[in-house]
Amino acid sequence: MSSTKYIFVTGGVTSSLGKGIISASLAKLLQARGYSVTIQKLDPYINIDPGTLNPYEHGECFVTDDGAETDLDLGHYERFLNVPTSQANNVTTGKIYQSVIEKERRGDYLGQTVQVIPHITDEIKHRVKLLGNSGKFDFVITEIGGTVGDIESLPYVEAVRQLKWELGNDCLVIHLTLIPYLAAAGELKTKPTQHSVKMLLESGVQPDILVCRTEKALSEAMRHKIALFCNVEPHAVIESIDTDTIYEVPMLMLKENLDSVVLQKTNMIAREPDLREWEDFLYRLRHPSCEIEIGLVGKYIELKDAYKSIVESFIHAGTLNSCKVKLKLIHSETIFPENVGEILKGLNGIIVAPGFGERGIEGKINAIRYVRENNIPFLGICLGMQCAVVEFARNVLGYTDAYSTEMKSNAQYPVIDIMESQKKVSCKGGTMRLGAYPCSVKIGTKAFETYKKSEISERHRHRYEFNNKYLKEFENNGFIASGINPQENLVEIMELKDHPWFMGVQFHPEYKSTVAKPHPVFVEFVKAAKKHSGN
Ligand code: GLN
Repeated sequence: MSSTKYIFVTGGVTSSLGKGIISASLAKLLQARGYSVTIQKLDPYINIDPGTLNPYEHGECFVTDDGAETDLDLGHYERFLNVPTSQANNVTTGKIYQSVIEKERRGDYLGQTVQVIPHITDEIKHRVKLLGNSGKFDFVITEIGGTVGDIESLPYVEAVRQLKWELGNDCLVIHLTLIPYLAAAGELKTKPTQHSVKMLLESGVQPDILVCRTEKALSEAMRHKIALFCNVEPHAVIESIDTDTIYEVPMLMLKENLDSVVLQKTNMIAREPDLREWEDFLYRLRHPSCEIEIGLVGKYIELKDAYKSIVESFIHAGTLNSCKVKLKLIHSETIFPENVGEILKGLNGIIVAPGFGERGIEGKINAIRYVRENNIPFLGICLGMQCAVVEFARNVLGYTDAYSTEMKSNAQYPVIDIMESQKKVSCKGGTMRLGAYPCSVKIGTKAFETYKKSEISERHRHRYEFNNKYLKEFENNGFIASGINPQENLVEIMELKDHPWFMGVQFHPEYKSTVAKPHPVFVEFVKAAKKHSGN
């Protein structure tokens, strides 16, 4: 294998231009040409990881197999590439400083003043090269979070400058900018892009490729103008036009030759891309034979990114059921026993989302009671499953004071309780039950029908669990613990005997759904919802 190529993706003009999707699309195209690729995100904030961030701040927190709480862009990387990411794929300023300070305390820098340059920049470079040095990848694509010009981004841009200097042709910089359309002038404007490239140049970084986000097609003249003012070759000015689905972006980038330009500039062979699977997925996405509507009950619904992986999982699962899944986002705080029927009317299934804390819990429980009693397909994820357990205890077993001790520490019937391993933990960050754990699925259950095997592995992110003290009584009343963690005997999947499709999972199936492998739990849930709709 020739030496690993490093590609950096920076962003200018504004945030939210879709660096993550561009990185994932480029990676997909390189993968389709037979190269092994990984994508890494460097986040310039000082949190060690996004685990302690409110979803309103930063959208969903994505979890890897090895238990890293990461930026949601890692979810896109996995969904596009169908390759798991790990701790090494998301680095924050907090992590960089933490390891530099640990080294300083250990005496690794004895006698030296510890500074941003070279100590912080060296640590950044080390984290980037760690993936390349693993020998597993032809390409490491590193997305730099934030926008060029931010104070926080400076050490990262400096590290990129140094790496570009050290690695020569083995390193490329792609800069993503915005070409706004000014309706009043009736024109696309290149000035913000010119300024943003100037800003990069001030830091000593000349981008090799510009990806220009735009709502209207760029003319040849405009591409030449951008090329001339920004010192890039005209064929390295790539248009990234708005599209209705992120899954179209790899095809748009292929048409624009983003991957060919990358291969040419890094002296790699341009093998024919094999995108048959991807195209097949897109075809099915664009040609559904029916439409169903599923209600997503959560408390962060104002921000769609808070449930990113769930939303994407439904898109994947829809294609395998030839149906388009419309999601109705329902704020759990608005659901009461008096209006639940009205709110859930016409929906073919209900998913109750993960979450933390007491707010909105009663609304979730009201929704679950309604779907249980009215035979509407139900999926509860993590807190969603815990709410289903509380609802069952209250309304089937008659324990009116059943609760999770997360919400009420002195509940008379703590059917969901803190795990033994969590009782002594006092610090809040990174201390949950995190990452992949095995689960044994019971034969003859809906869970087994779903997975079609008895040993599975799923990702977790929680502190509370089903309280086994109550299991016998639950089971005697129609509750099935259909998935169990074999080492610690924890209930991981639950379902109900007399219901068409009612499943709660203590783990997060949404983290493992990809374009190539839609997650079976979502596929089966959508199938049940489709049946409910009469299609
Ligand atoms: N708050 C619950 C727990 O910690 C559920 C967490 C979740 O939904 N991810 O167990």
